[in-house]
Amino acid sequence: MALTLDLSGHVAVVTGSTSGIGLGIATSLAEAGAKVALNSHLDREEDHQIASDLAKKAGVEVVYIQADMSSAEACVSLIEQASEKLGTVDILVNNAGIQYVAPIEDFPVSKWDAIMAINLSSAFHTIRAAVPGMKEKGWGRIVNIASAHGLTASPYKSAYVSAKHGLLGLTKTVALELAELGATCNAICPGYVLTPLVEGQIPDQMKAHNMSREDVIKNVMLDRQPTKEFVTVEQMGAFTVFLASDAGSQITGAALTADGGWTAM
Ligand code: NAD
Repeated sequence: MALTLDLSGHVAVVTGSTSGIGLGIATSLAEAGAKVALNSHLDREEDHQIASDLAKKAGVEVVYIQADMSSAEACVSLIEQASEKLGTVDILVNNAGIQYVAPIEDFPVSKWDAIMAINLSSAFHTIRAAVPGMKEKGWGRIVNIASAHGLTASPYKSAYVSAKHGLLGLTKTVALELAELGATCNAICPGYVLTPLVEGQIPDQMKAHNMSREDVIKNVMLDRQPTKEFVTVEQMGAFTVFLASDAGSQITGAALTADGGWTAM
């Protein structure tokens, strides 16, 4: 049987998808034919505009749903609203994530709690809400956006590294639970992708390392990325489409790197 990357007839939810990697993934899924629900916690006019622009560009239905991924109820509501508006959610991309950088002894408890909620617990809540629909369809794809920091650590990122390592554990567990039900669950572990989240880290890293912006990019961020190039959001999108396609049906429970060789070192 010829395999294609056509996702027509599928319904995707991408959390945290009005910018950066999430928007890159949502764009690729829509261009592959899936109906897509975009999400953020912000409900800005531009969020709705991004959805209608993508719908026009890709020629598929795209909606924007406001939901704060730090709230369990909002995670469930996101899946429910997407199913009502577009049909049963059968592609779920857990992408929403935040970062905070500080030495462990100064790390604010509120930041630890927020990172755990948004970067880890939200995936538990959305998966829990979406799996019954996938089981009923006998088809599903879950892609969790982890990080090279799901496989390795860096100083000053205790909460982020812990949450991303946890996300890989959740990925493996869900993959085993769904293995005979036509649904897969994988994690992508990117290295540095140039997005607003990374832009936001540069001033903190400049302070922590007492370096210029240029030196932080070259000697701190891309120092561990042997290709010396940022990953692109388009590459993240294409990777996700591949996992969501029939070509990806035997890939499950995996932590797949897209890190320019970072974790090979
Ligand atoms: P970004 O800041 O550009 O985008 C994050 C998105 O999440 C935004 O759309 C934001 O509105 C949304 N968001 C934040 N808090 C939210 C909340 N409470 N509820 C709902 N949405 C919320 O970040 P990015 O760099 O595109 O990162 C996306 C994911 O990729 C994150 O999980 C991040 O940890 C991971 N990641 C990024 C990189 C990188 O280099 N950029 C590397 C590895 C992993």
